[in-house]
Amino acid sequence: MDFLPEGPARADRAYVTLVTNADYALGAKALLRSLVLSGTTADLVVLHTDVAEAALAPLRALGARLVRVALLPTSQAFNEAHARDALHARAAFTKGGKPPFHTPLDNFAKLRLWQLTDYRAVVFIDADALVLRNVDRLFDYPEFCAAPNVYESLGDFHRMNSGVFTARPSEATFQAMLARLDVPGAFWRRTDQSFLQEFFPDWHGLPVFFNMLQYVWFAMPELWSWPQIRILHFQYEKPWQDHDKADRLRPLIELWRAYAGEGPVPDPATLAGPCGLP
Ligand code: UDP
Ligand code: MN
Repeated sequence: MDFLPEGPARADRAYVTLVTNADYALGAKALLRSLVLSGTTADLVVLHTDVAEAALAPLRALGARLVRVALLPTSQAFNEAHARDALHARAAFTKGGKPPFHTPLDNFAKLRLWQLTDYRAVVFIDADALVLRNVDRLFDYPEFCAAPNVYESLGDFHRMNSGVFTARPSEATFQAMLARLDVPGAFWRRTDQSFLQEFFPDWHGLPVFFNMLQYVWFAMPELWSWPQIRILHFQYEKPWQDHDKADRLRPLIELWRAYAGEGPVPDPATLAGPCGLP
């Protein structure tokens, strides 16, 4: 079975995330709690592969509708080209580190959200993100909207980040994607992100605050603005990992931990920005 939802849809709009192992379930739990706290009226959907029930149960407890999915039916050549070691050798990550539990091939399973045809509109959010303010208005935005992949310099505004985007489920779109994805010699160096940017060349830009990447904190502090950030995204190293940038990202990691726990979370508008900025 490639696609097996648990129970019926309860709304015609859904936030969707993806979990292919227990590590990303930790992220999804904090993300789901942030969505609940944002007061959304949309469904919360977790696309998951064969992940231990113990890791999935907390997601269900937060009200998520679990949808079991298979990885995409890609060819052996495609799978080999996008295996972790092969991808890292051919397109090394020079700007940051990917955690050991990150499997590039798994990213493509995101595209299964186009099969969620019992929803009129969906917003995909990576499991390593937090929604700090209600973003339900995104359901009224067209397919395909995403924010720029900004974390280093102005040149980053030319690229999109696929950690947050708007979509309209459609089996026809899903089939068209499969046909474009796995062509002979295909190599999508940043996996679903490279693919989606090519599939939707006229992507609509969301304000950067809809997908604020954690490195902006230290690399472009003038761009930071707690009062404006709606979605905070922990790209590269994850806040539930030990990693070498943790000291530089401490306030963001503390915020993630507040959402990952059971206690209160701070009002983001009251937080201090980098270098004393708001
Ligand atoms: N993901 C997953 N398992 C993996 C890799 C990725 O479940 O092995 C999902 C998860 O939702 C994750 C998203 O795909 O947030 C994209 O990967 P990641 O966030 O690690 O990429 P980054 O934001 O660092 O580019
Ligand atoms: Mn991410």
